[in-house]
Amino acid sequence: MSVAPAPTVLLGNRFARELPEMAVPWQAEEAPEPQLLVLNEPLATELGLDPARLRSDEGVRLLVGTAVPPGATPVAQAYAGHQFGGLVPRLGDGRALLLGEVTDVAGRVRDLHLKGSGRTPFARGGDGLAAVGPMLREYVVSEAMHALGIPTTRSLAVVATGRAVRRETLLPGAVLARVASSHLRVGSFQFARLTGDVELLRRLADSAIGRHHPAAADAEHPYPALFEAVVAAQADLVARWMLVGFVHGVMNTDNMTISGETIDYGPCAFLDAYDPATVYSSIDSGGRYRYGNQPLAAEWDLARLAEALLPLLSDDQDEAIARAVEVLDTFRPRYEAAWSAGMRRKLGLPAGADDAVVTPLVEELLGLLEAGHVDLTSFFRSLSGAARGDAEPTRRLVLDLAAIDGWLARWRALGPDADAMDRVNPVYVPRNHLVEEALAAATEGDLAPLGRLLEAVTAPYDERPGLERHALPAPAGSAAYRTFCGT
Ligand code: AMP
Ligand code: MG
Repeated sequence: MSVAPAPTVLLGNRFARELPEMAVPWQAEEAPEPQLLVLNEPLATELGLDPARLRSDEGVRLLVGTAVPPGATPVAQAYAGHQFGGLVPRLGDGRALLLGEVTDVAGRVRDLHLKGSGRTPFARGGDGLAAVGPMLREYVVSEAMHALGIPTTRSLAVVATGRAVRRETLLPGAVLARVASSHLRVGSFQFARLTGDVELLRRLADSAIGRHHPAAADAEHPYPALFEAVVAAQADLVARWMLVGFVHGVMNTDNMTISGETIDYGPCAFLDAYDPATVYSSIDSGGRYRYGNQPLAAEWDLARLAEALLPLLSDDQDEAIARAVEVLDTFRPRYEAAWSAGMRRKLGLPAGADDAVVTPLVEELLGLLEAGHVDLTSFFRSLSGAARGDAEPTRRLVLDLAAIDGWLARWRALGPDADAMDRVNPVYVPRNHLVEEALAAATEGDLAPLGRLLEAVTAPYDERPGLERHALPAPAGSAAYRTFCGT
């Protein structure tokens, strides 16, 4: 008698059991020739998975969804979503599967999810597939965000499938294995609300409270408290994006999590030159999701969450609306507070620095950065040098020397802490020209540039020899950067 080997991973099926109305059991498409391109060993270990086993044939088949551990129920999740302002009632995982939940070594329940694993009943016109480049982009950018301390889904692995994907040209296909504290989105609540089944909506809300915002369970009114917790998490998240110059690109309601993690890295990018009007996504012709509009876009999405939650906020409709508005009104002050506190940290300012001095100083700085098309990451990192007495690198970045000298003098008078600044202003972010270079090389089979980029951005605050290129702004004359959603 042969004994079946222990599974590589134990996967729960809690979502599939608790919310079957929103889960379609499904399986991944065969991958003709799976080849592991990148594995996140520290994350694997955190999940209690053995990296060596994940590298084995069986492990790689797990990572593309073709070897499902016993007891697991992979599902495509149903959700709705406002896409660029228009409601799509039935969106769902068109090319993704929730494999199941893993309990990590710290005891936290986390989703293991695949993207690019083939068509599902939600695929609409899509092919259900993903290309190597965009999946590696999500891997790099999500891991960079994590290293920057920004809540995000994580990337466990990218496996090339050996199947060609037709985009503008034929491209090598891939599956991304990603990890999230859950995949519940604003769009999940919109879907539940649109079914008209209030008990489903309640079960979904209870599940979200249990997984992400347990304190809401003890509140006098748990569902308004859930909404308030999501508003707080998103206000904090978007403030962090803004401080680091991250442009998400597609802030549709299906791409906003209930947990407060950044999700769905499509046409995302980091600012080079500081400019609130920056749009990278080729499909965002109206600039709805431009850098400077992200706080408003988030607030808009949260208003859609409020609408979806209304039947749970109170039995009395007027009271439900009043509660929704009251909570939604907390978004702006929370966002402002998070952003201002973060900006003070970036400037190394002591806790006691007077708002009446700091606020105009910050406004003036942003005006200078915009007018001079100054590289955001390089500027803030250079400032610690200026605090230590060498302002030349900062001055070289800014066109208007008289203005920056005046600004620096007033800022230095506040006593900035250079070491504290180096802990919050990254040297390395995934700069657009380096991401493109790494993805193009990887698509051709050369993984070395990707490896160096990951080395830089996964330890973003420690300047290291050998990574000088990764700390420099894009070469002058770089074409206006565009990212594509046909991912
Ligand atoms: P996204 O903008 O990437 O968040 O995707 C929006 C919706 O389109 C989701 O429902 C995705 O599952 C679906 N989708 C995106 N690309 C594809 C594809 N190639 N095949 C099927 N569905 C897709
Ligand atoms: Mg999405």
